[in-house]
Amino acid sequence: NQQFRLASRPVGLPTDANWQLSDEALAPLEDGQVRVKVLYLSLDPAMRGWMNEGKSYIRPVAIGEVMRAGAVGVVAESRSPRFTVGEHVSGGFGVQRYWTGAADDKANPLVKIDPALAPLPAWLNVLGMPGMTAYFGLTDIGQPKAGETVLVSAAAGAVGATVGQVAKHLGCRVVGIAGGADKCRFVVEELGFDACIDYKEGAIGPGLKQHCPNGVDVYFDNVGGEILDAVLTRINMKARIVICGAISQYNNTTPVRGPANYLSLLVNRARMEGMVVFDYAQRYPEGVAKLAQWLREGSFKHREHVVEGLENFPSALLMLFEGKNFGKLVLKIAEA
Ligand code: NDP
Repeated sequence: NQQFRLASRPVGLPTDANWQLSDEALAPLEDGQVRVKVLYLSLDPAMRGWMNEGKSYIRPVAIGEVMRAGAVGVVAESRSPRFTVGEHVSGGFGVQRYWTGAADDKANPLVKIDPALAPLPAWLNVLGMPGMTAYFGLTDIGQPKAGETVLVSAAAGAVGATVGQVAKHLGCRVVGIAGGADKCRFVVEELGFDACIDYKEGAIGPGLKQHCPNGVDVYFDNVGGEILDAVLTRINMKARIVICGAISQYNNTTPVRGPANYLSLLVNRARMEGMVVFDYAQRYPEGVAKLAQWLREGSFKHREHVVEGLENFPSALLMLFEGKNFGKLVLKIAEA
């Protein structure tokens, strides 16, 4: 069983030296255990945070431990009455070829998924963790009302694409921010956003003025940094800013850049609120049902960027921080 383990903690962008590739024989299953052959791994910006020491919303990955990762796979062996060989499942399987664990581990639940409803990689995207982040972050924290303007950064990415489409379904004006003309075109022409601002073209101020003529009611922030600061100057009274992530800051070697324009919250009686998707675990079935309904109706799109081969994990992860992924980044480990 090949596995990527954390060898050391990165300073700035992770390097190959931070990883150790190990290979271990698989032990026979114990009663109640299941073995899953991993098919697709989810590569997430949050992985960078899990490599750091220190207090966060989840404990850090320990040195020497298999890197934490969400994944989908197929049951390869089972000594649990709840799972049969050949069933598809999702769970926190880690960066490895096979996951072995208890079928009823509440801390790392094994969830059956239906590949007939959507292809397996989509279960790591719109019907998986990023989809749940978008759905609950927007509806529960952002609370957009029809007619309001919703702005979302990293709009062509996994979370952003779903945020914008949910907001369109709720009757909002939806504007994205993304890096590059191709991504902006995709966001407008394929995903149906009203507009998209290319932040790599220059300052986003003029684009915000043009495309959010009535100001911003909800900003779903995936990137932090300068973009958050620029948006703060355009928010409306009682605006809601969802702090979902700050990918522009994850590889900093200096302290995180906080918002210089935060007093706009005071002037506008607005709020900024963080969210962690895991808090909604009990409600995932509700989110999956809603998004699956829109998928079935053909009114919702999803895009995955598939990189092949476990051995490419270290370089593939870096794509997220360079904007080289176009859609939800997944690593294909094996044929279904
Ligand atoms: P994406 O699929 O959006 O991929 C990351 C994208 O971020 C890149 O493609 C790139 O897009 C953009 N990006 C990278 N570096 C920068 C930068 N310096 N400035 C601006 N944009 C940058 O990833 P996800 O959808 O998986 O995650 C999006 C955000 O959501 C992340 O911040 C992540 O941590 C957060 N998240 C939070 C969760 C929670 O529970 N709070 C759960 C899941 C995700 P581009 O080419 O457009 O620049």
